[in-house]
Amino acid sequence: MGATISLRAVVIHNRPHRDQDAIVTMLSHKHGLLKVMVPGAKKHSSRLAPLATPPLLGDFVLSESKGFYYLKEGDAVESFKGLYSSFEALTAASHILEVVQDTVVDTESAQVIYPLLLYVLYDLSTHAEKYRQIVAAFEWRLMDALGFGFDLHDCDCGKPNEMPTYAFSFTKCRLFCSNVACVAKAQDYRFVSSGCVEALRYIRDAKLERLSAFHAADYVLDDLSAVTHRYLCERLEKNYDKMSIIDSLPPV
Ligand SMILES: [Zn+2]
Repeated sequence: MGATISLRAVVIHNRPHRDQDAIVTMLSHKHGLLKVMVPGAKKHSSRLAPLATPPLLGDFVLSESKGFYYLKEGDAVESFKGLYSSFEALTAASHILEVVQDTVVDTESAQVIYPLLLYVLYDLSTHAEKYRQIVAAFEWRLMDALGFGFDLHDCDCGKPNEMPTYAFSFTKCRLFCSNVACVAKAQDYRFVSSGCVEALRYIRDAKLERLSAFHAADYVLDDLSAVTHRYLCERLEKNYDKMSIIDSLPPV
């Protein structure tokens, strides 16, 4: 075996490999995404198996051989247990992990996305009931981090009307007021409440540990989730549909 490296990382994906093994994807602050072979991960007796289940934050020791990484040992730091008591929070976490796996492309993006991911996983595991605003906050903040920032200034027509409604333009990546001439310029848009715009501005500027610490009425959350999700899917050119399973469940 070659060199060993020690690192703290989040396990974000696991796929079976051959009969007994698994290949996990880890995200670390310094190294970005790493694919790591976990020998024997499918055996019940394996001491490594509990470390191979996403999402899990751990301290790991890897060995490198011929360009492949192998998990030698590790300790769980945080297993986000609270997620497992809420179907919604677990689904939200799996959506977030999928997006992270697609968007960490280099060590630079890892440095921004790693702390965001840790915070939102922790938030979801301790405030499962806030899953909708946590997901929206994650999606919106990620877009900013990836350089897909949206202009949240008021309409520049000089005569924004007093309606509490904005046109969120997916075409122009900015807001328009609800004057007829302005809405026409917005092209592909969704009307959103001023509460939604306030929440978007809050999320853009908030400290990570306060990211979801805002109050939003249900109709505001509906707007917020709709625009952040569609904006994300359009910019990343992928239909992220894991969350739709929650909407398809009968009301409790
Ligand atoms: Zn206007």
